[in-house]
Amino acid sequence: MKRCAALAVFLLFLTGLSGCARTQAAEATFFAMDTVMSARVWHGAGGAADAQAVQSLVTELEQTLSVTDERSELYRLNADGQAELSADTLNILQQTLALSARTGGALDPTLYPAVRLWGFTTGDYRVPSEAEIAEAMAAAGTEHVSIDGSTVTLTDGAMLDFGAVAKGYAAQKAADELAARGAAAAVLSLGGNVQTLGSKPDGTPWKIDVRDPFDGTRAAVTLSLTGSHAVVTSGGYQRYFEEDGVRYSHIFDPETGAPARSGLASVTVAADDGLLADGLSTALYVMGLDAAADFWRASDDFEAVLITDGGEIFVTEGLSGSVSGAEVQVIGR
Ligand code: AMP
Ligand code: MG
Repeated sequence: MKRCAALAVFLLFLTGLSGCARTQAAEATFFAMDTVMSARVWHGAGGAADAQAVQSLVTELEQTLSVTDERSELYRLNADGQAELSADTLNILQQTLALSARTGGALDPTLYPAVRLWGFTTGDYRVPSEAEIAEAMAAAGTEHVSIDGSTVTLTDGAMLDFGAVAKGYAAQKAADELAARGAAAAVLSLGGNVQTLGSKPDGTPWKIDVRDPFDGTRAAVTLSLTGSHAVVTSGGYQRYFEEDGVRYSHIFDPETGAPARSGLASVTVAADDGLLADGLSTALYVMGLDAAADFWRASDDFEAVLITDGGEIFVTEGLSGSVSGAEVQVIGR
């Protein structure tokens, strides 16, 4: 009888534990792609392993896509001008070229020679001469990229950089992988990239802060969203240097080969796909408010929050019911 009671208590304990594992989130925080990342995954038993899987996947992509690591696939392509690419890199290249065409070249993966010239890959920042910029930009333009099967050829000294889309691709791949492993829900935060999967188990919406570009300690607005989304911010404040009182940021204008000065301080894009949201946030930042609003009017696959250098906050119509925390101006169709 006593033994039976003990067994019952033990079974209750086990049930309690498994019930707990089902509602608790597994978390992993790590450093990759030059930024702090975190993953929160709601799962049954084995959830902890899933949060770790996000780290492995992102680290593996980083090793493939790094422009500075001599062992990476992209480094080899840039150095040799030709390489056979893995499925991931080829997939990123094809999607990025398509988005580059769609954005009229505002997103341009061939700006790397210019980005490097200004010191953004090494941290040896400087303002180059007009002649140096012209030389670096001679190699820019997607016409210098050709794809034949899985072989990619770069001509005239062109070099690729997927800095504008890599985190978005990684976040999407991680979310897809978690879904395939049976995760109930997840929220990934990879630097400025947030990716949600499914619905938050407590039934409340995901709360996603859009950082105030002028004060890193606070949110400019907060988005409340349900379901799976990619929410990605590009901002001049994320990486920049200052010389003679001028701020030079890491997002480049393909027209000038210099840091973009579009009047925008940050752009946040919400879309169903990570690479799309990441690529568009960069492109819209380059375009500036009016061109970005027109681009949105001609599209149906994303919404955006745009914050101007003057601190005005604009949101596209589809987000107007999801935004809180400050006065905003709505961009209509
Ligand atoms: P993001 O933070 O996603 O806006 O991407 C910015 C990064 O992408 C920079 O650090 C550069 O490596 C690269 N980049 C800068 N300007 C552009 C551009 N116009 N198109 C594509 N990549 C860019
Ligand atoms: Mg981007």
